[in-house]
Amino acid sequence: MSTANSHVNPANTLGRPDSAYTETIERIRETGECPFCPEHLHREHGLPIIIDGVNWTVTDNKYPYNGSENHVLFVHKEHITTLGEMSVEAWQELQEVLKETTRLRKIGGGTLIMRMGDTDYTGASVAHLHAQLISGSGNPADEPLLARVGNKIILPE
Ligand SMILES: [Zn+2]
Repeated sequence: MSTANSHVNPANTLGRPDSAYTETIERIRETGECPFCPEHLHREHGLPIIIDGVNWTVTDNKYPYNGSENHVLFVHKEHITTLGEMSVEAWQELQEVLKETTRLRKIGGGTLIMRMGDTDYTGASVAHLHAQLISGSGNPADEPLLARVGNKIILPE
């Protein structure tokens, strides 16, 4: 990873409509801390917890994608960064908390993104394994809702 603090990647915050998120990630990088670890999540996040599971903390994204109707974070409680570190029990619970969140929020449809591994490949700004459930406006006439999922490979001319 190319950043000094391997828990966050400020380069992947670029392209957002405002600079607040980039500034937050830059500040966190200076601390050397992981913002999604339980001891730091409450301080950095500050939004209500939707579901406090065994393996997952479910909460709204503090910096939702522009135009999203719902942008919910599913943060693995233990600090892991790869799928290989995730237990079968955590997978099963993820399905349960996804279903429960969809029910609680009356989400008619959504897109699930899981951020894992080296953030240079994923577009994630936080390396700690997490998933995001995102739903748009539901109006086909609205602009598409775009999410960063990595960097493009630039092929030589
Ligand atoms: Zn962490």
